Amino acid sequence: MKTSRRKFIQASTVLASLASVQKLFARDKTVTKPIVISTWNFGVGANAEAWKILSKNGRALDAVEAGVQVPEGDPKETSVGLGGLPDRDGRVTLDACIMDELSNCGSVACLEHIVHPISVARKVMEKTPHVMLVGDGALQFALASGFKKENLLTPESEQAWKEWLKKAEYKPIANIENHDTIGMIALDSQQNFSGACTTSGMAYKIHGRVGDSPIIGAGLFVDNEIGAATSTGVGEEVIRICGSHLVVELMRQGNSPQQACELAVKRIVKNQPKKSKEIQVGFLALDKNGEMGAYALQKGFTYAVYSNEVANKIFEAKSFY
Ligand code: ASP
Repeated sequence: MKTSRRKFIQASTVLASLASVQKLFARDKTVTKPIVISTWNFGVGANAEAWKILSKNGRALDAVEAGVQVPEGDPKETSVGLGGLPDRDGRVTLDACIMDELSNCGSVACLEHIVHPISVARKVMEKTPHVMLVGDGALQFALASGFKKENLLTPESEQAWKEWLKKAEYKPIANIENHDTIGMIALDSQQNFSGACTTSGMAYKIHGRVGDSPIIGAGLFVDNEIGAATSTGVGEEVIRICGSHLVVELMRQGNSPQQACELAVKRIVKNQPKKSKEIQVGFLALDKNGEMGAYALQKGFTYAVYSNEVANKIFEAKSFY
């Protein structure tokens, strides 16, 4: 994944520094809404889908759901949805959550056999009194809600897992090569935020492991008064600091989205000085003015931006190391 990300960057993307995108946005603090931002290069395809809704004055909630469905349904993306790399037992287990401008939220964790966990998360939000369903219960709910049971393990991902099995080296500290998540935040023309986050999590994880991505406040947080944040990377470290909630609260205290993302990353470094050198975590944030922030532990964290000013470009975040 990391390799294909790099190739993709070299081949076809426009990379700009965060400084230049911030300059662009500084021209007019109140950027013309709408705007959508999402993690990694696959954010481009996802943003394009979200933009179809946002540009027609649609709701941010609909935009983020439609947006992240793109990598979820793409068998070539091995870290989200269909084709996601399995756990150590060969099972593809998915985590996802969604949150709207009214603090409604829904989440599924360790969900198997469903291509679009984000839509199941939305159903949990809209059709149940609960926030989170996990494992068999989440699957049962999905099937009862009309989702189709499918095999998510593609021949390619199965092959990669079988290769891994030869050594079956389980390292609880994930490196930055075997995981990725799409986290997406949108601000619509009505000035409302929504966010979505979806992943197959860390490849070859222990069966049942859940990362930050489906946890409201860790992988995603939306507060319509302030803004929204999402994360990617080693979920355990994001959970430990309630990462996305922390970023939003730091913005509430007057920090810019960029400062807030940097402070959250620095919190991880402070808590885990040694481990933080070996892993990747990245945060993305957006505030009510359409100002954004992005920061990661390691170089290489890219994100995609689509607004009236920026026609779906990829940027690379600054990093601590
Ligand atoms: N945050 C995800 C997890 O820990 C994976 C990632 O974004 O790389 O499951």
